[in-house]
Amino acid sequence: MKDPKRVSACLFCRIVARELPADIVYEDAEVLSFRDIRPKYPVHLLVVPKVHLAGVADLQVEHEPLAGKLLRIGAHLARREGIANSGFRLLTNEGPDAGQVVHHLHLHVLGGESLRGL
Ligand code: AMP
Ligand code: ZN
Repeated sequence: MKDPKRVSACLFCRIVARELPADIVYEDAEVLSFRDIRPKYPVHLLVVPKVHLAGVADLQVEHEPLAGKLLRIGAHLARREGIANSGFRLLTNEGPDAGQVVHHLHLHVLGGESLRGL
């Protein structure tokens, strides 16, 4: 999304821009990860691209390396959080039926206890 007004209103763009605080656990040139403000599990991280994409449905062919990187970083952070062996879940919500509330693509990294089945 190129509209600067929309981007400046986006919660996660504002976290990326350091306009809003977050408990940041990882950063590189393309990706930021921070702890979910209302964790549903003992480990609940969000992994977001720095570029604004509204959700997984906005991914284009040129985003394939970025999409793969989100998964790799999610798994890397799960290892760092000590939940790689016990198990973890990476998921993204798209649209109202999935309960998406923040319209900036993000991967949830969930674990630290037995996760309820889907
Ligand atoms: P989703 O339903 O996939 O859109 O999930 C959005 C997630 O963002 C929820 O788990 C929220 O708890 C989380 N969230 C909302 N605002 C913040 C914030 N300021 N910092 C960290 N996480 C947030
Ligand atoms: Zn955004």
